[in-house]
Order: sequence, then structure tokens, then C-alpha cells
Amino acid sequence: MFGKFFLPGPTEVRPEILAAQTRPMIGHRGKAMEELIASLTPGLQYVFRTTRPVYISSSSATGLMEAAVRNGARRKVLSLVNGAFSERFHRIAVGCGLEADVLEVPLGEGHSPEMLEHALQRGDYDAVTVVHSETSTGVLNPVADLARVTHARGDVVLLVDSVTGIAGSPVETDAWELDFVLTGSQKALALPPGLALGVARPSLLERAKAKKDRGIYFDFIEFEKNILKNQTPNTPALPLFYALAAQLDAIRRETIEARWERHAAMARRTWAWADEMKGRGLDIRVLAPEGYRSSTVTCLTMPSGHTGSAVTSALKQRGLTIASGYGALKDATIRIGHMGDHTVAELDVLLGELEQVLGA
Ligand SMILES: *Cc1c(COP(=O)(O)O)cnc(C)c1O
Repeated sequence: MFGKFFLPGPTEVRPEILAAQTRPMIGHRGKAMEELIASLTPGLQYVFRTTRPVYISSSSATGLMEAAVRNGARRKVLSLVNGAFSERFHRIAVGCGLEADVLEVPLGEGHSPEMLEHALQRGDYDAVTVVHSETSTGVLNPVADLARVTHARGDVVLLVDSVTGIAGSPVETDAWELDFVLTGSQKALALPPGLALGVARPSLLERAKAKKDRGIYFDFIEFEKNILKNQTPNTPALPLFYALAAQLDAIRRETIEARWERHAAMARRTWAWADEMKGRGLDIRVLAPEGYRSSTVTCLTMPSGHTGSAVTSALKQRGLTIASGYGALKDATIRIGHMGDHTVAELDVLLGELEQVLGA
């Protein structure tokens, strides 16, 4: 039954969406495929709040993180690091042969625009990497402000991993002038894993054109050329395209604003629950400070006597799935992915069971 799987990725997929994947194969160079892709674009533009074409990459999200760096960064990168995924963005920059500095804050914290402004003054960076919603800590970075500060430096681009942002919390690709922003299918879009989606500004494509080492599979110039013809550079993960079509229809029916609000309501419910537990004498805390909390994932510190892995196993025995902490926070925290197609009512059941597991 739907409503029991609260990992912060992959998230639970509704049966209708799973079923949509079983349609027959079609040739990917034919008219039917072009019609399918053409039907996806308006829905994707609606979700990303953009008039630009949205690239559909048959890869996991990390593929488009690497693509962002290969196409968008020239020489020297500043990576905003506050957890496992933002650290990955930095490792990708280094792995692609770029010079890359880190602006690191402790786990559980975010990056203020002032902090970024200061760091940009110190080095001659041409690109900044940032994770919008750091899934390992539940921290939301103020991407709109970070973009403003980045662009104030002139010819510097902001490459945004919004893998657990897009479709779960407000992202205004065009209004915030994001140079590149990406997500993956298996997070707030509540699709099976295997697709990554991203949008590039025209100025970023100009950069890409000037780069001779941007590779083949993740070449944005090819992505752009193909999507404008309702095609993909290579064989697309067709069953996932069917699922995406079905889910975009559902998102349009719900409206993106209502989807954001549903996620915000689930987040508020989780934070309020943590406060309530504290009131009952349980030392539980939302790791992220107020003002820097993600709508899609909450990382909760565990009271003494409870480890993240023991709590997740106990919940599993009750038929419910959440995640333990990530990396260094594995046993000190748990993570609830209140993301995708879940509701506050389903979340309430989970929190009720969690209360019992913690003996509150
Ligand atoms: C899940 C996640 C990724 C990695 O996605 P893959 O699809 O596994 O490549 C990257 N960044 C963030 C913030 C994530 O939550």
C-alpha cells in the first residue's frame, strides 16, 4: 500500500506511474517518440518555471552534475560544501581536471550570500557549485540570493544541484537566473530512478561552445540541438519517459504551487513533531537551523540510547522505511524524506510509529 516508504530518494512511486512504464517500445527516431518528447516539454517547463527547453538525460542526477561542470566551468571553481552531495560536486570538479576550492561550513549549516560574496572576492573563480537542498543534512541553501551575489561578480556562473529541491520547494529557474539547474527523477518528482533533468541559460551554452573538452555523452550543445527537434542525442530510457509523462500530467492537475505547499506542510509537521518530542523530554532536534530547512527532507538528531541504524531497523519491522544519517552522521541522526507524492496524513502515521520506537 502506498504511503510507507519515506527514504529521501528513491521516493515512493504510485502504482499508476509504475504501470505507465509498461507501454510498448517505440523507435526513438520516429514520429511517436518526437510526439512523446514534445508532450513532455510544457510540463517540464512548468515544473522548472522556465521558458527554456528542459534537457532529459537518461542517467542518474550525478551525470548532470558532471555535465554542469564539464560544460559550464572554465578553469577555477568554488564549491559550496555542507554535506555529502555538495562534497560530491566538488569531487566532480576536481575529477574533471579543474582547479577547485571549497567553501565549507559545518554539517547542518547553510551558506549565506555574504559568505559567498566574501569568498568570490578572494579568488578569481569562474563557476560556483551549490546544492540547493543538501539531502544528507536537510539544509536548504538560499539559491536565489546566491545567484544574485554570484552574478554581481560579472562573468561567474552558478551551477545548482536542486535534486531534492525541484518539484518539492520553490525553484524559479528564469526569475532567479540560474545558469544551470538540475534534478533527478527519483526524488521530489516521485518517479523511478534513471532520469536527470536540467536547464541551461543561453550564456552557459556560449561557454560550453568555447570548451573543447566537454565530452560526448553529456554535451549540452547536443542536448540543446536535439531537444529543440524533440529528440534525444542517444537512446532514451523510454519506460521512464512514459512514467514522466504520466507524472507531469498529475503535477499539472495538482498545480506546482499546491505541490510546494504540500511539501512545506509536511516539513512543518515534522519540525512541530520534533518540538513536541522535546517537550516530552526526548532530546530530539532538527539538525538544520530555522530559515535553512528543506521542505523535502528532515534530518533529526537522535537522543542518547538510540542510534540511527537501530531506529530505522525498528521502523522497518513495523513496515515503514526511513533513512539513517548519511556518512559521518549515520548513527547520530535519522532522515525522513517527506517528499514526492506523500501527504501529511501518511506522515502522521509514520511519526506516530516513530514515537513508539523512541518510547516517547
Ligand atoms: C540523490 C542526490 C544526488 C544523486 O543523485 P543520483 O541520481 O544518485 O546520481 C545528488 N544530489 C542530491 C542533493 C541528491 O539528493
